[in-house]
Amino acid sequence: MNRILVTEKIAPEGVALLRERAAVDVQLELDRQALLASIGGYDALVVRSATKVNAELIAAGAQLRAIGRAGTGVDNIDVEAATRRGITVVNAPASNNVAVAELTIGLLLGLARRIPQAHASTAAGKWERNTFMGWEVRGKALGLIGLGRIGSEVARRARGMEMHVLAYDPVVSFDRAAQLGVEIVSLDELLAPGRMSFPSIVPLLDGTRNLFDSARLAQMKRGAYLINASRGGIVDEAALLASLASGQLGGAALDVFSEEPPKGSPLIDHPQVITTPHIGASSAEAQTHAGLDVAGGVLAALAGETPRYAVNAPFVAPEAWAVIAPYLALGRHMAALAMQLIQEPVRSYEIEYCASSPRSIHSRFGWQCCKGCSRPTAPSASRR
Ligand code: NAD
Repeated sequence: MNRILVTEKIAPEGVALLRERAAVDVQLELDRQALLASIGGYDALVVRSATKVNAELIAAGAQLRAIGRAGTGVDNIDVEAATRRGITVVNAPASNNVAVAELTIGLLLGLARRIPQAHASTAAGKWERNTFMGWEVRGKALGLIGLGRIGSEVARRARGMEMHVLAYDPVVSFDRAAQLGVEIVSLDELLAPGRMSFPSIVPLLDGTRNLFDSARLAQMKRGAYLINASRGGIVDEAALLASLASGQLGGAALDVFSEEPPKGSPLIDHPQVITTPHIGASSAEAQTHAGLDVAGGVLAALAGETPRYAVNAPFVAPEAWAVIAPYLALGRHMAALAMQLIQEPVRSYEIEYCASSPRSIHSRFGWQCCKGCSRPTAPSASRR
């Protein structure tokens, strides 16, 4: 039976899932020396962000075949060292999509109706009904920067509130956007004053430092709102303060900051800014999903299957996974059969694939039809 070491607290549901198929040791108090001394006896290691899974620890784990990170970022894991040893690193990137999306919608509504400011006023014994005149989000345009896992969840919810959702994402397909009822535009189009009404921007993308600098903020409609529940550093905070002071921005909501906690930042108690302490992923459900996803990934890797969220293998979107998974099983069986049939050592190999693709993508990239196939297709590829 496989042995799995868990060195940080993960959801009990995740530990229970691991225990169904492996012997699990939950050791939350191990010091570094004890961890280095004991890791050699385990097939898999499950951590969160505190355990430093560096090259030294990976080398000491002679039996390791999987490392699981219950969460998204893998900064604490030397993925390259793990890959060199053939160890699969899995994480749980989809576990907090809904939590972050719901917080984003909460911030949006908080800005629209000034809910935190109204609460503070009532808590201070005041009754200022006329001060807190808000606006409805229905019919307003929402611009998403990044239509990935979280952006898609925000879009679904915003569409449910009858908002017009625009997105800038250089990678996402027009078909995917159409399914979500989202209009794909360039960043300049998204920020163009004519396009946007209140409120405006929800950046949800991997760190692009100071993407929202004073020039970008000046492009937005005067009085627009900005929400950042993505990463600190995407918004230039000095430029944001200047935009609020000049009235260019009507308000902002921030869950993330360039320095956390943001010591002495004037944004913290700014009357037009709503702040939360990086709690996007902090829901009970997200923690449970993280535990279950990482446990499922580690067990799949140990069983020689393809984990859904392998960091050192390509990410496959959930909707694509349902289509691809049976072919992976087929490929594995074909390879096993080939191993039995092949008489001589393999000196070269050739892979040929041919897949139909939606017409819109086809015409966008100018792809040709493949030989002997009447449907428009992505180009077939072969490699020797
Ligand atoms: P994802 O990888 O699924 O999606 C990111 C999307 O951004 C992709 O579709 C990608 O094509 C697009 N993108 C990348 N660079 C871009 C650019 N320069 N301009 C426009 N689009 C670009 O990621 P996700 O899971 O949706 O996470 C999005 C962000 O949310 C990440 O930055 C992550 O760190 C952050 N996050 C925040 C919290 C929180 O607590 N506030 C929690 C989890 C994730």
